[in-house]
Amino acid sequence: MYFAGGPESTWGFLPMILVAMSGYLFGLWASLAYAFVAIALLSAMFGAEYFGLLPHQPLFHMAVAYWNNYNYLADYLFGMLVLYLISATVTGSYYLAVERSDRELRRTADEAIKARRESEEAKAQLLSASSELEARVRERTRDLEAAQANLENNVAQRTRDLEQARRATLHILKDLKEDMVKLEAVDRMKTEFLSMVSHELRTPLTPIKAYLALILSGKMGEVSSQQKEALAVVARQGNHLQDLIESLLDLSRLELNKPIPILKEPLALGKFMKEIVEAFKVQAEAKQLDFQLVMSEKLPTIMADGIKMKRVLSNLIGNAIKFTPKGGTIIVSVGPEPSGGVRFEVSDNGIGIPPDQLDKIFEKFYQIESSYTQAAGGIGMGLAIARELVGLHGGRIWAESPGPGKGSKFIVVLPVEGGEGKNG
Ligand code: ADP
Repeated sequence: MYFAGGPESTWGFLPMILVAMSGYLFGLWASLAYAFVAIALLSAMFGAEYFGLLPHQPLFHMAVAYWNNYNYLADYLFGMLVLYLISATVTGSYYLAVERSDRELRRTADEAIKARRESEEAKAQLLSASSELEARVRERTRDLEAAQANLENNVAQRTRDLEQARRATLHILKDLKEDMVKLEAVDRMKTEFLSMVSHELRTPLTPIKAYLALILSGKMGEVSSQQKEALAVVARQGNHLQDLIESLLDLSRLELNKPIPILKEPLALGKFMKEIVEAFKVQAEAKQLDFQLVMSEKLPTIMADGIKMKRVLSNLIGNAIKFTPKGGTIIVSVGPEPSGGVRFEVSDNGIGIPPDQLDKIFEKFYQIESSYTQAAGGIGMGLAIARELVGLHGGRIWAESPGPGKGSKFIVVLPVEGGEGKNG
């Protein structure tokens, strides 16, 4: 450029190309460095010529000597500097942009490679997991098949066992049925035997009682007072024996579902009650009991079987005496029932009855467990027969008690007409 006219030559654009190329080749910083180096070299050359350090090469022999013109030189240098810088910036920025996109591309490629590697790894893991799963599924299927086979075996075994058990139960049921039929037959035989024995026992009792009455009346000869006393005891025990036999007969009728004959006749209650209570006087006195009979003034005459009703009331009074300790009180009362009919009550202040057994004591052979019951004897049939007999009169019988140790009350309500009952 120096030899081509220095500041007057047009080669001043040449470094711009170099700067541009360096920008393309080496980037922004290198091209900027080139630009400054070029401007420095240009300034040095211009300065050298301006201050006469180097001789000017007048290539174009211009009319105006620009190389000696300070303003021209300054403008020229400034213009070149701007051009160089523009050129450096454009190409350097392009380089940077290319480099950035290149980096971006490489990063993307790296990422793609990484992603591919990862996906391959995932695929491998998936494959291994799937084969593991398949193995487990195969194993589970084997287990399930074994379990199913086992279950089927068990079910078959259980079915066989159940079938055997069913057959055994049927067998036992058949045996039980046969046993029951046999037992029923035996029970019936026993009851028939009881009935027969009771009849047989009753037969000789009638002449015994008749002769006893004859002897006691003195028609068969003189009877001393001592003999009379002994005979009275025999007569009482005879009556007791007859009651027992009658109870047994009723019991066997009840068991055999045979009708208990009821013979209804007009019953004058005052006389009837006095006779019954009189029969228990001696027994009550022996236990020092306060034994009272309370009767309403107006008592109706009812239609009833006197013998059967006597048995019912005697059983209630007998029980009251049995289950009341020495010195206790027994009150027998009879009066009109407010809702119609007559009401008999036998109350005592004896051992009492637990509330849950008030009804059970009317069941056949039921006795409350206590030392009293054991000592008192009895078979637990009295109240069952009483309920049956009262029922046959169309009446009701039940017990009331505030609880053990607090006494009991037995109530019988009979209709005045005596009802139709089972046997009319
Ligand atoms: P038995 O007197 O022969 O045992 P009952 O059928 O007459 O049979 O009485 C059944 C049971 O009811 C008696 O064993 C007794 O436990 C109870 N019982 C009956 N009367 C009374 C009473 N007045 N006080 C307490 N318990 C009674």
